[in-house]
Amino acid sequence: MRQKIVAGNWKMNLDLNQGKALLLEILDSNINKDTLTIIAPPAIHLNSFNQMLSHTSIALAAQNCHQQDSGAYTGELSVGMLKSVGVEYVIIGHSERREYFMEDSLSLSFKVNNVIKHGLRPIYCCGETLTQRQEGEHFRTISNQIEQGLFQLNEMELLNCIVAYEPVWAIGTGETASPEQAQEVHNFIRKTIAKQYGDMVADNISILYGGSVKPANAKELFTCPDIDGGLIGGAALNAESFVAIGDSF
Ligand code: PEP
Repeated sequence: MRQKIVAGNWKMNLDLNQGKALLLEILDSNINKDTLTIIAPPAIHLNSFNQMLSHTSIALAAQNCHQQDSGAYTGELSVGMLKSVGVEYVIIGHSERREYFMEDSLSLSFKVNNVIKHGLRPIYCCGETLTQRQEGEHFRTISNQIEQGLFQLNEMELLNCIVAYEPVWAIGTGETASPEQAQEVHNFIRKTIAKQYGDMVADNISILYGGSVKPANAKELFTCPDIDGGLIGGAALNAESFVAIGDSF
């Protein structure tokens, strides 16, 4: 079911006290209850945040997971562990994971499978680099990322995924895709999904835009017909901005 969603990806920012202070500020604000609000803090905060978020409408996401359930994978976290501390969503394949940790769409498909197997929902990221856009390769890049990362799923499983389109050139750069550019790609993603799974699945999957979303540009992005919300980086580290983005539908 297509939902309006605002997800804050805190990345590797804020220690526990700073994180709790920001979360309290968000909880004290009047968050938009018509929008699903998700927060993805550093993994070490998840357990405390789970306790702080009980009896609230805010959901918890992890920024990554391992594809195996347990074993000799030093430094990694399994989906079962994340689930045991209240995580409901897992960001998979953020461009920073693809770039700095050499994750590719095929290996990410195993993470997606594992998240789904445990009944959690992947937020699967795709997006082109500046060079790929300049060379007119953006549509092919994105369809490859979607097909390789998600098309092993059946219809019901895919409907449990959220897709995030994040042009790499717009992440943390202050440069946002124009609403027309973002809408064009979101529509392309929906059509790519429709070709494989049919219109019912394509029409019901939530597709978020990410890349320098802020209160000043959120409304015009979120009113595009194929944009269902945002995956927010920098602006999610400020309660006022994050809440204002959630109010931008
Ligand atoms: C992100 O990292 O997912 C992101 C969209 O970052 P920013 O909003 O800072 O561009």
